[in-house]
Amino acid sequence: RPVLVWFRDDLRLADHPALHAAASAGTVAALYVLDPAQGGGAQMWWLHHSLDAFARDLARHGVRLILRRGRAGDIVPEVAKSVGAASVQAIVSPLPWLREADRGVGARLEVPLQLHVGGSLVDLSQVRAGSGRPYTVYSPFARAILKSGPPPAPLPVPVLRAAEVGAVASDQLDDWGLLPKRPDWAGGLRGMWTPGERGAAARLEAFLEDGLEGYDRARDMAGDENGTSHLSPHLRWGEISPRQVWHALGDRQGSDAQRFRAELLWRDFAANLLMQRPELPERALRAEFERLPWRRDAGALADWQRGRSGIPIVDAGMRQLWHTGWMHNRVRMIVASWLTKHLLIDWRGGAAWFLDTLVDGDLASNSANWQWVAGCGTEAQPFFRIFNPLTQARKFDADGAYVREWVPELAKLPDRWLHQPWAAPEAVLGAAGVRLGEDYPRPAIGLDEGRNRALAAFGRHVKGH
Ligand code: FAD
Repeated sequence: RPVLVWFRDDLRLADHPALHAAASAGTVAALYVLDPAQGGGAQMWWLHHSLDAFARDLARHGVRLILRRGRAGDIVPEVAKSVGAASVQAIVSPLPWLREADRGVGARLEVPLQLHVGGSLVDLSQVRAGSGRPYTVYSPFARAILKSGPPPAPLPVPVLRAAEVGAVASDQLDDWGLLPKRPDWAGGLRGMWTPGERGAAARLEAFLEDGLEGYDRARDMAGDENGTSHLSPHLRWGEISPRQVWHALGDRQGSDAQRFRAELLWRDFAANLLMQRPELPERALRAEFERLPWRRDAGALADWQRGRSGIPIVDAGMRQLWHTGWMHNRVRMIVASWLTKHLLIDWRGGAAWFLDTLVDGDLASNSANWQWVAGCGTEAQPFFRIFNPLTQARKFDADGAYVREWVPELAKLPDRWLHQPWAAPEAVLGAAGVRLGEDYPRPAIGLDEGRNRALAAFGRHVKGH
């Protein structure tokens, strides 16, 4: 009998436990449902191309990907019925709306819905502290996973026998309108990314060859294009599994491999947080942060979004994000800190912009990291550790290559002034062709002034400091 695989954020053939289970139980039918809860401009661009690649990969195995738009709770049972499925197989997701959809589908299906672990390194529901509770702090969480040995080895692509689904209705991907119309803002994305399982495998291979050696140090250098793996959007869409990435490192030891594994564990940790605290995207995990007097300043938020904040390292990051759908991790921390501390703007506004513009926009990692930077997460920087964007820029973009690439109007400034044009003498600005306030803005607030304002606001409202 046919088995229906309901694909979600796991658009791959290899290491797919749900597909594997289906293949060993019967003939295979494949479904993807676009839910109204899904969104984010750059994410939808990625999804379009990822589904396109995935449908072709499945077709090579004779399986047609059924595409449907609407509420999964209605559609999955309907499609399961029309293919005559004996069961529905899927991979566990930490996303609150998908977990709710699982409950809805489960309640309405006449056959079993079986969920498999496959989007995380380990079964997160089993990672528990001595007290039996899930972890809320990263280090013991990571230690517990490492102690239990390597995560399970990845599964190969199974042999597939296709179910007969010719009569089942399917949408045309192009009709979903996931790609930008006018203006076409996706040129930079097309230039940088190859969505799909092969694109993911190629990224991993390139990283193992050119990036892993020296990762521990280079991962913080904003302008180092090979410094990190760029696997995040592929992991986000499940075009590659974290277990595949983990096992591709083999038994390599040393600080580079250890650090890289630690980053994969941060991804699992964020998923673990979202699973136990579904309110993570909306509410500060430390309740007292809900009393903070966030400033409502639409103008400053828009300047930050458009890369016109007046802080070169911040603007470089925000423009990299807009053009490529990705931003360097160190710079994500710097721009998030500038927004939430110096500008005192609610982290949720920044997180929403990230989710709209990142190709790797992931509700778990994004929310957990924003809460971490804003200081309101379970494992947060103490609020008084406020990033100084100038010190950060000098350290992590020491030669200025990153700022010069993304903020070309400042490119002729000498290194000494590049990261702080507001402090440069008029003659230096003139020689570099920069008219401050015209070609490039002045920051909305001074570094010290912003820092003191944040300290005062946080200090009044946050307990224990
Ligand atoms: P690498 O350094 O090569 O790391 C390998 C993988 O480890 C990444 O692909 C990612 O899956 C995981 N990883 C690395 N750092 C983190 C981290 N801090 N938290 C969770 N997982 C991590 N990452 C997302 O995938 N989606 C997001 O929406 C997202 N939003 C973020 C928002 C803020 C404010 C900050 C500070 C970080 C955010 N991150 C997010 C984490 C991190 O910046 C990206 O995962 C990383 O930059 C991706 O680049 P890479 O694949 O080259 O990373």
